[in-house]
Amino acid sequence: MAIPSTCPLCSSEAQHQNVVTKHVYGDEENKHAFYQCETCDVIYLYPQLSIEKEQQFYAKEFEGFMSSRSGFNAGWHGPEEHIKANTKQYERRWAYLKNHLSKPGQVLELGCSSGFMLLPLLEMGFDCYGVEPSGVFSDFVRNKGVHIYENITEIDIQFDIIMNFFVMEHIRQPIKFIQDSIKLLKDDGLLIIEIPNANDPLATIYDINSFERFYWSIAHHWYFTEKSVQYLLGRIPGIEFNIFRDQRYDLSNHLVWARDNKPGGMNQFSHIFGDKLDSLYKETLIKSGFCDTLILKIKRIH
Ligand SMILES: [Zn+2]
Repeated sequence: MAIPSTCPLCSSEAQHQNVVTKHVYGDEENKHAFYQCETCDVIYLYPQLSIEKEQQFYAKEFEGFMSSRSGFNAGWHGPEEHIKANTKQYERRWAYLKNHLSKPGQVLELGCSSGFMLLPLLEMGFDCYGVEPSGVFSDFVRNKGVHIYENITEIDIQFDIIMNFFVMEHIRQPIKFIQDSIKLLKDDGLLIIEIPNANDPLATIYDINSFERFYWSIAHHWYFTEKSVQYLLGRIPGIEFNIFRDQRYDLSNHLVWARDNKPGGMNQFSHIFGDKLDSLYKETLIKSGFCDTLILKIKRIH
């Protein structure tokens, strides 16, 4: 198997690059591995997926791939089901978005899928824009009144909020991706990015083998930790940023992973645990730093 000569993010040399796993979910030919750089802490797919392979993947395989990964009830079969399946996601994000959305303005979401984040904002009077290259839900979202584009380069207006959720890890050039978004922000606008935290408790604290086989995905160029995302953002001139931790999956999901070695257990035992235990569990993970999600809030410095 090929070995990286330098880190693709910080250019640190080969002796500082270590294999994280050779089990890459979706890598049928077994040609890729994930490496971690000791210097900047970033985890990356190596060799990179070719542009041709990547286009093929998003054109033909992505929704099926996501559907097989997310377990049952994830709603990848239709937009209404997808919106319903993501109610909890919306509520979790709304908790940290609401302070930034006090007055209606222009909002852009990159990778808006079924529009489950944008459609409630549309109802509240926001002018909503979405970029969605993969296309299965685009007509649905457009018909609801969201301006839909295939590519960010087609957009020439400025936004109060630009947001993307679990997109940046799929992007070949994350620095350019952030810079392209920053250019579309109003002076006091905010860019909000949600990404997986590579310090996911299922992979770190519990070290569940089946989760490891599932987690490291061919669809991701990168996995970030707080340290590596700090490094990445620090390389972009003219911005200020804050990094926050969050926990998407609950205690039930973690127990089902441990028992059945598969995803899909979300809320299964919530009627026994109750809200108090469920939130305490999440808060405890967040405090420890072994949580599954990172949120980046980025502003332009004037
Ligand atoms: Zn590095």
